[in-house]
Amino acid sequence: MSTVTPAVERVALNGLDDRVSIFRVRDEVDAFAIRTDRFVALIDTLSTPELCTAILRELEPDLRGRPLVVVNTHADWDHVWGNAAVGDRAPIIAHAAAGARLNSPQATAVLQEKATAEQRFAGVRLVEPTVTFTDTLTLQGGDLTLHLLHTPGHTDDHIAVWIPELLLCIAGDAAEDPIPEVTSAHADDLRRLCLSLRRLRGLKPSIVLPSHGETTDPLLLERNLGYFSLLADRVRYLRSAQREPFEAPELGFAECVDIARPVTNGARAFYSMCHRKAVSATLEQASLDHDRSQRRA
Ligand SMILES: [Zn+2]
Repeated sequence: MSTVTPAVERVALNGLDDRVSIFRVRDEVDAFAIRTDRFVALIDTLSTPELCTAILRELEPDLRGRPLVVVNTHADWDHVWGNAAVGDRAPIIAHAAAGARLNSPQATAVLQEKATAEQRFAGVRLVEPTVTFTDTLTLQGGDLTLHLLHTPGHTDDHIAVWIPELLLCIAGDAAEDPIPEVTSAHADDLRRLCLSLRRLRGLKPSIVLPSHGETTDPLLLERNLGYFSLLADRVRYLRSAQREPFEAPELGFAECVDIARPVTNGARAFYSMCHRKAVSATLEQASLDHDRSQRRA
C-alpha cells in the first residue's frame, strides 16, 4: 500500500483576477475558489478531506466576513471525496444526479479499491451534496455572478461554472488537455459531451480552467471538439473504405492525440484509455447513423 500523501499547491498565474484561486494536487486534479463580495465559492473539494482542509485553511483570510459555498462539478472521486471536510459549515451544491452517484455501489467499490491501494483514502467518507438543481443555478455574488450549467457527457451529473464578469469558464472535466473522457464510452454521451463543449464555446470565454490539464487557454474547447470531429471523419472514411477501424493506424493514439505538455507515463496511459473510449463511442455513433440512413432508404 502506498503511504505517500500529496500536497495542495496554490498556483500563481500572471494576469488571473485576484478573486480567482487555483489549487493543484500535482497531476491529480485542480480545485478553484472564487471570492465575491457576498461569499467565497469553493469549486470541488479534491480527493480527501485532508486536502480540502488545506484549501480551507488557505482561504481563511477571504472567509473572514464571508460565508463559504461549496460546488461539486461532478461526483468523480478526485473532485468530491474531500466533501467531509466541509461538514455542516456550508451548503454543498451539485447537479441532482450527483447524490445518487455518490450513494451508488460503484462509488463504494471505487472507494474500497482506492483505500486498499493508498493509505490516504482509508479515512474518506462519501458525503452527498445538500443543494441540487437540474439545468442551471445562478449564485449572485454582487461583484461576480456564478452560473452553474449542466454540461453532461463526461458524466450525467457534470456541471461547469460560467462567470460572465471575468469571461471565465471553469470547465471541470467537460474539457481537458489533451482530451476529455467520455466515461461511458457510448455514443449518446459522446454526443452530449460535444453539445456541452459547444455550449461552453458559445459563451466566448477568454479563460477556460479545466480540472486537469494546467491550462487557461480558451481554445481548449475548440481543440477538444476538433479531436472528436477528427475521429468522426476518420471512422466515416474507414467504414466507406471497408477497413477495420480498430486496427487502422489513422485511429492510433499518437496519430490522433497531441500531448503538448510533459505528462507522466500514468497520465499517458490514462489518455490512451480515454482515446479508446472515444473511438468506441464514435464507432457506435457511426453504426447508429448507418442504421438510421438504411431505415430511411
Ligand atoms: Zn471526472
